[in-house]
Amino acid sequence: MTTQTGPASRLDDDALQGLKSTFRGEVIGSEDPGYDDARRVQNGMIDRRPALIVRPADAADVIAAVGFGREQGLDIAVRSGGHSAPGFGTVDDGIVIDLSRMRGVRVDPAERTARVEGGALLGDVDHATHAFGLAVPAGVISNTGVGGLTLGGGMGHLTRKLGLTIDNLIEADVVLASGELVKASAETNPDLFWAIRGGGGNFGIVTSFLFRLHPVSTVVAGPTLYALDQAEAVLHWWQDFIAQAPEELNGFFAFLIVPPAPPFPPELHMRKVCAIVWTYSGPVDKADEVFAPIRAFGSPLLYGVQPLPLPAWQAAFDGLYPKGTQMYWRAEFLNELSDEAISIQVRHGAVPTVQSTSHIYPIDGAVHRVGQDDTAWSQRDVRFTQVVLGADGDAANAAMIRDWAVGFGDAIRPFSAGGAYMNFIMDEGQERVRTTYRSNYDRLARIKAHYDPNNLFHVNQNIRPA
Ligand SMILES: Cc1cc2nc3c(=O)[nH]c(=O)nc-3n(C[C@H](O)[C@H](O)[C@H](O)COP(=O)(O)OP(=O)(O)OC[C@H]3O[C@@H](n4cnc5c(N)ncnc54)[C@H](O)[C@@H]3O)c2cc1C
Repeated sequence: MTTQTGPASRLDDDALQGLKSTFRGEVIGSEDPGYDDARRVQNGMIDRRPALIVRPADAADVIAAVGFGREQGLDIAVRSGGHSAPGFGTVDDGIVIDLSRMRGVRVDPAERTARVEGGALLGDVDHATHAFGLAVPAGVISNTGVGGLTLGGGMGHLTRKLGLTIDNLIEADVVLASGELVKASAETNPDLFWAIRGGGGNFGIVTSFLFRLHPVSTVVAGPTLYALDQAEAVLHWWQDFIAQAPEELNGFFAFLIVPPAPPFPPELHMRKVCAIVWTYSGPVDKADEVFAPIRAFGSPLLYGVQPLPLPAWQAAFDGLYPKGTQMYWRAEFLNELSDEAISIQVRHGAVPTVQSTSHIYPIDGAVHRVGQDDTAWSQRDVRFTQVVLGADGDAANAAMIRDWAVGFGDAIRPFSAGGAYMNFIMDEGQERVRTTYRSNYDRLARIKAHYDPNNLFHVNQNIRPA
């Protein structure tokens, strides 16, 4: 038996022994070897000391952990990939339910579905589905958790063609605050199914997702890089071009510093540039034609577009963000980029470090074909979501990258379409959550009151029970 000290000392010893006696996964206290590693999350700015970290092996363990947390009166943090910007995957003095042992993916190629455990990473899904030439649209870094990304919406290289990740969710198994495990789908608990498609981890712990898959295997993808002084022209051209481009073509605008590594040519290393990061998921033999107007525009420093297996492309930027990177996030939904909005972008766009970046993702196409109140994710009419990420490996630069992100974020706020993608912001408080969900907020609060009346799951972008 582990002797608990520090914050964990207030845990009831008998209750802890009871939990351990049936738990099949790991139970890690503050004195246990591995505690310091287990408490770390992706964002190096987050440094919290939970009383207990558990790693369930299965849904039964998740139920036991929820019961333990509830009965001991502990704050409960749920972790899948641990990528949450404000560190919602951990909590001081509470219990972390870390799903990282639950990463199984089972593909049904005939039905074109994938059953994905709640702690899987995007790369686990890509690996499993690619074997069948199938894919689910998700995010652009493969070690992001399916759990947090999906429950918040989920956008990436395939969004224009296939919609948000939630638009491809068929059902989920959810462990509620009561400890009951229920199915959420269009037919079973449809209100819960509505709420988890954008409402984050507010309603329970998803132990398994069922996704619809699509035939996407090889994509034609890569960046076109332009000199920073071309940013204004590139933004003007891109926003018009992408609006009429075929949905198979995704392209997000970025400010960045060229990483000092292949495949980038040495003469561009560490140069501040702007870029459009393209992904074409239509027939490969049509790609030349689709990219013709892109090749014809401006004078790119690099035309880096090439055919790639989707999983390789979705993992292409992983190396930039090792665990422990200092990160400060700001975000905004945007519509039309006016001349003034573009000049603000240009004024702030010179990123301070090689890991810092700003992306403007198009969220039109298939995203717009879902109604504003069909899912909790309400921003079905906006054109773009921007994320500004100050990031660096050195804690000494934390204030500098935060100041840049905050300055850029404040400057674009007046042009906001209202609210921000919940997965791209720090903890900015209740009003920001309410603004983002717009007219869906009240319904979310009512559903929260039904499934989690005491707000047991509150370490998240919190929706308070009505
Ligand atoms: C490097 C990087 C790249 C990113 N790229 C993209 C991108 O391309 N597209 C995009 O849409 N987003 C992207 N994001 C944002 C990402 O979607 C969010 O950070 C998301 O919350 C991460 O999910 P996670 O499971 O890794 O995080 P965690 O920190 O583990 O969890 C985040 C939140 O979700 C809840 N949660 C997680 N799993 C479950 C579950 N199974 N059941 C219930 N609640 C759960 C947690 O309680 C927490 O509140 C990126 C983030 C990073 C750090």
